[in-house]
Amino acid sequence: MEKVGMTCECGMEMRAPKGSEKALVAAIKFHAKNAHNMDSSDEDVLKMLAPVKEGRVAGVRGSMSDIM
Ligand SMILES: [Zn+2]
Repeated sequence: MEKVGMTCECGMEMRAPKGSEKALVAAIKFHAKNAHNMDSSDEDVLKMLAPVKEGRVAGVRGSMSDIM
């Protein structure tokens, strides 16, 4: 199954099956708030998601700091 995800600047990788972006975005926002005290919008987080290939997030497109 195709997956999408992102790697946080702290190294934490978060991913979910394609189609479950909503839950993934919620998890990322939760992590950003709790681990980094950052507020982000659903839209910003969605933009950072990248496809996961062979178990790895392809091309780390951004970090949590990019959305600020
Ligand atoms: Zn983090």
